[in-house]
Amino acid sequence: MSCMIISHFYKLIKPTQVCRPLVPMSTNGSCLSTSLSPLSQFSLLHHRATTSTALFRPPVITARLNSTASPPPPVLIRSEPVFATAAPIVTPSRREDMESSYEEAIVGLKKLLSEKGELAPEAAAKIQQITAELTTAAATKDTFNPVERVKSGFIYFKREKYEKNPVLHAELAKGQSPKFMVFACSDSRVCPSHVLDFQPGEAFVVRNVANLVPPYDKVKYSGVGAAVEYAVLHLKVENIVVIGHSSCGGIKGLLSFAFDGTSSTDFIEDWVKIGLPAKAKVKAEKGDAPLPELCAACEKEAVNVSLGNLLTYPFVREGLLKKTLALKGGYYDFVKGSFELWGLDFGLSPSLSV
Ligand SMILES: [Zn+2]
Repeated sequence: MSCMIISHFYKLIKPTQVCRPLVPMSTNGSCLSTSLSPLSQFSLLHHRATTSTALFRPPVITARLNSTASPPPPVLIRSEPVFATAAPIVTPSRREDMESSYEEAIVGLKKLLSEKGELAPEAAAKIQQITAELTTAAATKDTFNPVERVKSGFIYFKREKYEKNPVLHAELAKGQSPKFMVFACSDSRVCPSHVLDFQPGEAFVVRNVANLVPPYDKVKYSGVGAAVEYAVLHLKVENIVVIGHSSCGGIKGLLSFAFDGTSSTDFIEDWVKIGLPAKAKVKAEKGDAPLPELCAACEKEAVNVSLGNLLTYPFVREGLLKKTLALKGGYYDFVKGSFELWGLDFGLSPSLSV
């Protein structure tokens, strides 16, 4: 069975050391306000802009823009949901049940058709048609159907979680009061609600490529800033946890991109460069070690960079000084099945191993 390791509680800062070197933070040791400033300027290459222009197709409704008549809505946009569940659910069923009932229906109809030779021709034809449709559906049942996947997923959630926890969901209907704000990677394998078993209402979650927290910037990163501000000032979360993970594609990109003024992506390089201080530290310490080793180290150092960047938000600093807020770093290794947690506390926390 996999093990979970909770260790590495680091004493990273003292109340008066916000701008002093953070150990083992991956910033370069200078004041955060200078060490975390943008390290280089990036712009799209001319040829990329040219390519984008060449590929751009004007919308077909351009000719109507000066018309006083409103264009009809595009026919492909539906005004009703693709699916909606009624409450209560009448026929919840698991996927396996659906498959077996399918097969049983086909067998039953074929049996009925063979036994009831006296059926009226119309009824027999109808049964044959239904049998054919069911047979076709059964033959293609392995074809992925996103709507069915969402539907069956929600039905399962509603039956097994929502309807079995009426008290919890009645409370959540009034509002939320999560103890945690969590930054996690968008990677489909590292959902914090699964990995840490967060229940609805427990964690205010932001997920992005490489679980990065940018430094305070009211213009460039307002999406992240709004989330931090809302979590700290309005929800009054007590902990912000930044969770890195193994085999992170964003961190691999951070280590692989040249950051020499050229760019091969529209957004990714500009985003992951937030982790450049981590890359610099790992490169300085490990030099030309194999890329997987560099990645593993950088995945953790980037978490420390994000923790440092959180200190550039004034309401985060205030929460830390008032001890109403704590910052923690985490690392989920889904290959080993382990989890590490370290704190940005004002004291040394005891290590835990689970
Ligand atoms: Zn990732």
